[in-house]
Amino acid sequence: MEIEEFTQYVVLKAQETGTSDIHILPEDNQYRFYFRIGGKMSFWNTVPEEEGKRFISYFKYLANMDVGERRKPQSGAAQLIIEGNTTALRFSTITNFRAQESMVIRILNQSMHLSLSKTTYFKKEVQMIEQLAQFNSGLLIFSGPVGSGKTTTMYQLVRESYLTSRQQVITVEDPVEIEEPLFLQTQVNEKAGITYETLLKSSLRHHPDIIIIGEIRDEETAKMVIRGALTGHMIIASVHAKNTVGVISRLLELGVTQEQLKQTLLGVVFQKLIPRYCPFCKGDCEPACLHINLYEKRAILYDVLSREELKQYLNQTQTEEQIQEKQTRSFNLLLRKVYAYGYISEKSFIQFQIP
Ligand SMILES: [Zn+2]
Repeated sequence: MEIEEFTQYVVLKAQETGTSDIHILPEDNQYRFYFRIGGKMSFWNTVPEEEGKRFISYFKYLANMDVGERRKPQSGAAQLIIEGNTTALRFSTITNFRAQESMVIRILNQSMHLSLSKTTYFKKEVQMIEQLAQFNSGLLIFSGPVGSGKTTTMYQLVRESYLTSRQQVITVEDPVEIEEPLFLQTQVNEKAGITYETLLKSSLRHHPDIIIIGEIRDEETAKMVIRGALTGHMIIASVHAKNTVGVISRLLELGVTQEQLKQTLLGVVFQKLIPRYCPFCKGDCEPACLHINLYEKRAILYDVLSREELKQYLNQTQTEEQIQEKQTRSFNLLLRKVYAYGYISEKSFIQFQIP
């Protein structure tokens, strides 16, 4: 098989199995291919060392990476057209102490648009989130571990409201993970001096209805976000934190004031993507099992802090502990519920708790 054909074959196989990442790892005198499916690594195939190297070089070339550089870690992006469908890929390479290069390929645009209520354990939280997204201006924050589907949730939420009201949407991301022709998508490029701050500043000049921000991670971006929310924009962003109230602490740390939060913050959503329990697999549903659809093998558990509870917390009339005691739908309580209903395994129940 020609190298071009082989690379397409691998990516096609990966797509057919719902793979999010392809790992190409050196081992002795061969390369092993692993597919990450539903968060789990599964072995796919081995090829001779020379073929593995050619495979990696081909993608480095395609992604405009330095093909001759084999020692320094590199990253890149490219699009592959297979059988008429465009697939966006992200690449990263790293070399071990034996000077053998390995590569991870992330497959980005799964074109499946599943509604939020189809991919969650509880519809009530999704309805709350959808209501919050109806506001014309303000700030709606998402948080959750890497790989918890935050970008997918933000995109689907805005896509749903776009379909009803055709608003102008600009995204500022690092990098763009899901391609969406309905939105004007922009991407940070630190090397070229294009930062979150500069992109956000120019986005605001376009006066879009909704701005999606990949992550608020510095003071400048945080300030600009508040300014945007105060001047009549709906801003949907993610912030790194370990729970809903952690988001507020993080924003205060980034120089946003309590008063600004009171004026702009509509709600905070914390989410985790948790595998569904399958009675046939006697645990998390395996990729090949037909009992649960491929894209429904995991679902999201949301915790929403908004309205009265949020107000009380921001006015400091309630402490974090008091808020959590009062909350009947806090993350850990909902997690206990999905476990009690038999939707998730005991292992997941323990693993996904917020400490
Ligand atoms: Zn199963």
